[in-house]
Amino acid sequence: MTTAPADPMPRALAALKRMWGYDAFRGVQADIVRTLVDGGNALVLMPTGGGKSLCYQLPSLLRPGVGVVVSPLIALMKDQVDTLRQLGVRAAYLNSSLSPQDTREVEGALASGDLDLLYVAPERLLLPRTLELLERVPLGLFAVDEAHCVSQWGHDFRPEYQGLRVLPERFPDIPRVALTATADDRTRADILSVLDLHGAPQFISSFDRPNIQYRVANKEGPKTQLLDFIRAEHPGDAGIVYCLSRKSVEETAQWLVAQGVDAVPYHAGLSPRERSSAQERFLNEEGLIVCATVAFGMGIDKPNVRFVAHLDLPKSMEGYYQETGRAGRDGLPSTAWMVYGLADVVNVRRMLASSDAPEEVKRVEAAKLDALLTYCEAATCRRQILLGYFGEDSAQPCGNCDVCLNPPRVRDMTREAQMALSAAVRSGNRFGAAHLTDILLGRATEKVVSMNHHTLPTFGVGAAHDEKTWRSVLRQLVSLGYLAAGEHHGLSTTGKARALLKGETTLALREDSLVPQVSRRDRDR
Ligand code: ADP
Ligand code: ZN
Repeated sequence: MTTAPADPMPRALAALKRMWGYDAFRGVQADIVRTLVDGGNALVLMPTGGGKSLCYQLPSLLRPGVGVVVSPLIALMKDQVDTLRQLGVRAAYLNSSLSPQDTREVEGALASGDLDLLYVAPERLLLPRTLELLERVPLGLFAVDEAHCVSQWGHDFRPEYQGLRVLPERFPDIPRVALTATADDRTRADILSVLDLHGAPQFISSFDRPNIQYRVANKEGPKTQLLDFIRAEHPGDAGIVYCLSRKSVEETAQWLVAQGVDAVPYHAGLSPRERSSAQERFLNEEGLIVCATVAFGMGIDKPNVRFVAHLDLPKSMEGYYQETGRAGRDGLPSTAWMVYGLADVVNVRRMLASSDAPEEVKRVEAAKLDALLTYCEAATCRRQILLGYFGEDSAQPCGNCDVCLNPPRVRDMTREAQMALSAAVRSGNRFGAAHLTDILLGRATEKVVSMNHHTLPTFGVGAAHDEKTWRSVLRQLVSLGYLAAGEHHGLSTTGKARALLKGETTLALREDSLVPQVSRRDRDR
């Protein structure tokens, strides 16, 4: 005689209420919990703040044996474990921050079955000693958090994560759940392969964050633009300002403080003490701004971050989505604000071109950058482009991005584009934007004359437009791949430019009308 397995959900709901005080599951949480409690594997793609932790914590409590959580965020394990202990969960962690004595204690608790949840760093898990120990104790499940770290294509690749192949090999009967907020196809395929999750159900939540307003403006005087933005829209709010270099992090923080805005720097070059103090202050104070490199933010769970500002281009759409996703986790209106300009585009393109990475990796990175630049130059709803990149089609423009709120004018700029491209060709495809602009405007600078460029037929053909227009045209041509950035910021025409030069294709470009009104000061300078 067989009996149908009991429905686990009443027990799950009771535990949700008793331990966490929540009345209901959010979205797909219930289905994930059911799958895992029933002993199945799963892949979970959920945006940051979506509620991934519950998806493995609760099943770990409901299943016999310990739930093992693999996480790369050593700095956060203690907090997570402390929080769980306060809820009455028997939780512990194993990582390099523990003393040998503490390590032995945790291992002892594990061996004698006194743990519901064990957080472990991947390099610790992969030690033969840990694996052997795990083979001797009853296990409830394996949860691999931040699972995108397995993928070389991602921005957080961690070689140790590839070692997690041992989980399906050595523990084939223990349920595995992989969780991540990064959803592109290639990353997903890598996760499926390393953790052998082929055929397992995939739980994919919408990546839309409707309360975040997306905005991108032309970079003119970035610090002043930032200050104006903060003063006009987010005075006294908590926010994160991302910069590319440690130096610009420091400078921006100092400058904000000098202007009377409460700000601290955060980057990997600071001492661990300075970093944790910045992090503490950010979490505990109301209106602090952290100026940071991308080193800041992974795992930061502050619900009321009101804005995320980018003073430099992120590396990819994934990076941009994750970084901006730190705004507005409480669901209240928040802003993702970015400024970028020609020099940024030239810089990242050049960095990419000159990197030592294998060709294939470079090609993928270039494609990722292209997607981001297309987003930046967009003349259609930004949210649609962003979600489309993650494979999600949204039928309607969102009404909550700068393009929807203030549609840019798009003009046929084929002629202007031809002028700019031919200035590049005729001067030998090796000069930067400033020099090309001089040629187009007919400025006989010393450099122009010494190169004999004042005799080119293109000299002065663009005098009907101002410098700002040419900068914008050149930026869009680089962003859209008509001009490539080479050594010393030199711009050269690409294959794509040929059809345009021959008049076989046309090109509509946006007029940069989105420059925030407030920054006129810089512009007039
Ligand atoms: P993620 O790991 O996906 O970024 P978390 O697991 O940290 O997200 O959850 C984000 C927030 O949502 C947390 O504050 C958590 O307590 C809350 N949360 C998660 N699930 C629920 C639920 N079912 N009901 C109410 N709040 C929830
Ligand atoms: Zn929109």
